[in-house]
Amino acid sequence: EPSSLAGLPAGVGEALEAEGVAELYPPQEAAVEAGVADGESLVAAVPTASGKTLIAELAMLSSIERGGKALYIVPLRALASEKKAEFERWEEFGVTVGVSTGNYDSDGEWLASRDVIVATSEKVDSLIRNGAPWIDDLTCVVSDEVHLVDDSHRGPTLEVTLAKLRKVNPGLQTVALSATVGNADVIADWLDAELVESDWRPIELRTGVHFGNAINFDDGSQREVPVERGADQTAKLVADALDTEEDGQGGSSLVFVNSRRNAESSARKLGEVTAPRLTGDERDRLRDLAEEIRGVSDTDTSEDLADAVEQGSAFHHAGLASEHRSLIEDAFRDRLIKCVSATPTLAAGVNTPARRVIVRDWRRYDGEFGGMKPLDVLEVHQMCGRAGRPGLDPYGEAVLLANDADTQEELFDRYVWAEAEPVRSKLAAEPALRTHVLATVASGFAATREGLLSFLDNTLYAAQTDDEGRLAAVTDTVLDYLEVNGFVERDRDGGSEGLAATGIGHTVSRLYLDPMSAAEILDGLRTVVDGAGATPDAEGGDFVPADDAAADGEDAGFTTYTRTGDEAGDADGDTGEAESGDPNTGPAVTPLGLYHLVSRTPDTYELYLKSGDREEYTEVCYERETEFLGDVPSEYEDVRFEDWLAALKTARLLEDWANEVDEDRIAERYGVGPGDIRGKVDTAEWLLRAAETLAGDVEGIDGDVVVQVREARKRLEYGVREELLDLAGVRNVGRKRARRLYEAGIESRADLREADKAVVLGALRGRERTAERILENAGREDPSLDGVDPDRSASAAAT
Ligand code: ADP
Repeated sequence: EPSSLAGLPAGVGEALEAEGVAELYPPQEAAVEAGVADGESLVAAVPTASGKTLIAELAMLSSIERGGKALYIVPLRALASEKKAEFERWEEFGVTVGVSTGNYDSDGEWLASRDVIVATSEKVDSLIRNGAPWIDDLTCVVSDEVHLVDDSHRGPTLEVTLAKLRKVNPGLQTVALSATVGNADVIADWLDAELVESDWRPIELRTGVHFGNAINFDDGSQREVPVERGADQTAKLVADALDTEEDGQGGSSLVFVNSRRNAESSARKLGEVTAPRLTGDERDRLRDLAEEIRGVSDTDTSEDLADAVEQGSAFHHAGLASEHRSLIEDAFRDRLIKCVSATPTLAAGVNTPARRVIVRDWRRYDGEFGGMKPLDVLEVHQMCGRAGRPGLDPYGEAVLLANDADTQEELFDRYVWAEAEPVRSKLAAEPALRTHVLATVASGFAATREGLLSFLDNTLYAAQTDDEGRLAAVTDTVLDYLEVNGFVERDRDGGSEGLAATGIGHTVSRLYLDPMSAAEILDGLRTVVDGAGATPDAEGGDFVPADDAAADGEDAGFTTYTRTGDEAGDADGDTGEAESGDPNTGPAVTPLGLYHLVSRTPDTYELYLKSGDREEYTEVCYERETEFLGDVPSEYEDVRFEDWLAALKTARLLEDWANEVDEDRIAERYGVGPGDIRGKVDTAEWLLRAAETLAGDVEGIDGDVVVQVREARKRLEYGVREELLDLAGVRNVGRKRARRLYEAGIESRADLREADKAVVLGALRGRERTAERILENAGREDPSLDGVDPDRSASAAAT
């Protein structure tokens, strides 16, 4: 047992040894010397797969052994459960682990009893806003992939959250794990932390460029892989890795491409390389896996993925259902799938090493830029870092592709020899500060303008800026905005300007809404009673205090996304004539109007308008004009109108979902994957729930509107028309089964309790176990189907 492991719970040293940790890796050793196991703050900037997690575990376990409590902040929700599962192996030594993500309504008190809590930065931010009591008890916080503070959408949240945690708890040990970036020292300065910076890797990595007949590596070596003119470079490289046996096995490859569509077509093509190299046993296991994949969902994506997997090849991107993703990741780690074609999302965090990484596309379409843009060095380095599986491969190889000598040279300069970019804080931007200034004031971190600026002085932005006035200037702009919309009150009488959140300001902060989303939603809902566009409360003086309805922050169930360049596929939306929403009684509020309202807030990522979309949605805009809440911008206001139409496209997707349109049709119509449909629906549900709370909290919004908002949300939740809401609420029923039951004359939960069992069974296509479970969930006293005649059920359903 390494002596450096003193201070950990008894037995942990032996357990690590049993896992194959005979000694600490050099960066881990350096971290221990810097005091990571004695409560010292630390920034560890080391390459992918060189054992950062263990550094974090040393910090957390020793902190807990001293009677403390640790928080581990992950950048992606998908990683939260992975990390939790990893840390659960310490439960045997008395360390308890809990996870808190947007997915679960985890109980605050339950988390309070855990030693380690895993959460995304957005979730932690929300927990702080909602006053989770255990935040004060933290002794150690770990920030995984801290270099993502550079991300303009999510970075500011991480930055402000770390600043808040450190403010609440002055002695807090902060451990930040980073990829190798250009300015890790600045991060360490910001966090008052020791710095461990290293290029050390547990397994040799060669990076090179393939051009013509060979890969040229950075160490000067070459590997011959002849590719005739016009032949597929990637296919040859994948074949070459598979045909080179080490340890009795060929090497797997991970191919990075720039769009989902390319990932799918690449996987299909590379199946021709992998299939002939499979053993009979592998083929059988892959067939089983393909069946499992088809069972996850009934979509084209599912089918395409299963087809590729049967050939030993797979694709991986953010449009996949999460079950699909983990099936693929596991089978790739088990070496059953030989090649994965992925978008860069896989490079971030998910532990899926391969012997050979092929960076096929080093440019990708960037919507804001309006063309193809080279990837960041950091991103390419992280992809390359996935090469080489310690203990399995003798070395890892990362290969970029060039088809002429100039490109080869450019790739060497741009990526192989280059250092990763420095990270830069993106905090001093209005959208970021809008939400964080409100939350900082609402949760009591600042009561004056000066206090606010001095709080913001604890951020990375302040640590690295040379333009000191900028943060204050943007903060003032944001304060004006928050005041005009009635979210904060300012008292300019005293010596220093006083700041306080209004009741509705508190609600907005706790709901985790962008204040601009809240303002848009409130304006839209007010038009229902006040007629087109009129918003009498422009000064916002009329708010009543928030009640406890919003205090339950866990209920917010917000979702977070990273926008990847991925969304820029080029599928053209098939038109299709979805019917308009059901006419409602009372004020003219329709689901489409509400879906559009929430889709145009900054909390929803818009779908891109593709060629032909502008005409199509302009037409829809005129046809359905009466349904929109608020003014429709004029066609001549180019940018605003485009945004409006993009929101309309999203709203139509949601309407299709609530009208029971098949997932596949939707995916095709809007050029998105099933994972995206889920994502849009989740976001809209969350925003409608927030709208319900807001509407109840302010005066001047019609009570009927709240009812309609709720119904529109419920229809999204189940993906059904109004008449199925009751049935679809029964567990295990779902939208398709609900429709079939309804058509068989079973229209409600109560009907399920009374209905002829043979009819139920028939509507459920003779699936007895499913039928019994559903009857039980509907509250039927005797759900057993024993003695029900299956033949009779078929004829009962036919009639
Ligand atoms: P990172 O977080 O830096 O990308 P990980 O922490 O996931 O890397 O570590 C990669 C792999 O190395 C894991 O499988 C881990 O169990 C293993 N590992 C970490 N430290 C050691 C060690 N000292 N000895 C042997 N294996 C180790």
